[in-house]
Amino acid sequence: MKIGLIDVDGHNFPNIALMKLSAYHKGLGDTVDWYSGIEHFDCVYMSKVFAFTPDDSRVIQADEVIKGGSGYKLFNQWLPDEVEHICPDYSLYPTYSSAYGFLTRGCVNKCSFCIVPRKEGTIRKHADITEFLDGRKSAILMDNNVIASDWGLSQIEKIISLKIKVDFNQGIDCRLIARDKSIAKLLKRVSWIRYIRMAYDNSAITEEVKTAIAYLKEAGIPAYKMFFYMLVKDGQIEDAEMRALNLDLLGCTPFAMPYRDLDNDTPPTEEQKRFARWVNCKAVFNSCTYGEYKG
Ligand code: SF4
Repeated sequence: MKIGLIDVDGHNFPNIALMKLSAYHKGLGDTVDWYSGIEHFDCVYMSKVFAFTPDDSRVIQADEVIKGGSGYKLFNQWLPDEVEHICPDYSLYPTYSSAYGFLTRGCVNKCSFCIVPRKEGTIRKHADITEFLDGRKSAILMDNNVIASDWGLSQIEKIISLKIKVDFNQGIDCRLIARDKSIAKLLKRVSWIRYIRMAYDNSAITEEVKTAIAYLKEAGIPAYKMFFYMLVKDGQIEDAEMRALNLDLLGCTPFAMPYRDLDNDTPPTEEQKRFARWVNCKAVFNSCTYGEYKG
């Protein structure tokens, strides 16, 4: 069979589902290529991760077109096990040298703004790091709450023993670090690609954020390596400003993410976007207050 692939979001970040589908079809002896728009394919897979990415509006030259991904709001659609647990075909994205995957799926929490509980349910074991490592020396891990899982914690021990550099790019739950100092000591032994990422989504968890930062510092992780995603909701700019300033005072890096309502496809307001520009452009953040920035 002749298989075509479309990464609807573009090629700025490796699409794991397409890499796995490619590996699976190549294993069956099929030919796999990026969809060219010119040739006819037996089957074309279109994958879209982000809701805000416009769909590919071309008429697809194929006998069958299969769409997937949370960008299409196909939350309950999963790859079959024989595809899900195959090592991805990293040759699709030759400029990326890390391995990509999930050790766990799901989350123990049910934050109202988040699609993970709806899409994935509660936390569970997913894969061993060696399933998708392919001999690579670093890994980008997209787990949503890895330290809430005993399997996730045991995989972190394995990552340490394999001497692999990692980035849990969806963030680690700082509330769990605040409840258990031994997790901070475990995380100190990890080789981080750049940052240890966490989230500070509202000021109700300020004390837990401060305790987690204190435990991580005590374990020997410098504050400049601590990166915090900050959800910025419409009407909560003052709360977000206080969170950003708290983090800055503690030596950590805040990163503002304007909230987008996925159910109603409501884009962020200009105010949310302006605030995010102030926080995320460090030269600006370090040189003026938000009041001065917005004028
Ligand atoms: S802790 Fe993170 S992944 Fe879990 S529900 Fe909340 S926002 Fe989603």
